[in-house]
Amino acid sequence: MKPQATPKDHDTAKAPTVSRALGSVNVVASGCWEWSGSRDAKGYGVIYLDGKTIKAHRYSFVAHGGTFDGGPFVLHSCDNPSCVNPDHLRAGTPLDNVRDMDGRGRRGQHHPLGVLHPLARLDEGAVVEIRRRRASGERAKLLAAEFGISRHHVSNIIHRKRWGHVA
Ligand SMILES: [Zn+2]
Repeated sequence: MKPQATPKDHDTAKAPTVSRALGSVNVVASGCWEWSGSRDAKGYGVIYLDGKTIKAHRYSFVAHGGTFDGGPFVLHSCDNPSCVNPDHLRAGTPLDNVRDMDGRGRRGQHHPLGVLHPLARLDEGAVVEIRRRRASGERAKLLAAEFGISRHHVSNIIHRKRWGHVA
């Protein structure tokens, strides 16, 4: 078994794979990933998971390692409620909505695309579990696959570059 990334691993980080994993994202010319699954009355994509309704863009933001240092809301810089492209999403306050025209916000750098997956619900419990299982010897590659995130993201979680506030 080779520890280093293979070209195939790299390919799995591409948007079309995300689309296939979710089964309901269309990547359009504007760069938006438009949610084609269920939507709520305001046009936001919604996911039904464990009996709960989750906004698809919020799910995508968290699954791709977004943090809520800017505020409790996940805002669109593209003004497209159905978009779940993490590069178009940032955390903010309701007041920030009126400033959305300023551009892409704090998350200006490009983030590697994690593969969205129904198990990629990276809440605090998942973060704790990833750290515990990695500490007990499970391979980062397998954890990444199971949780539907990149190995880079797993590494960031382990080294607390992400989710540093979670014990
Ligand atoms: Zn967008």
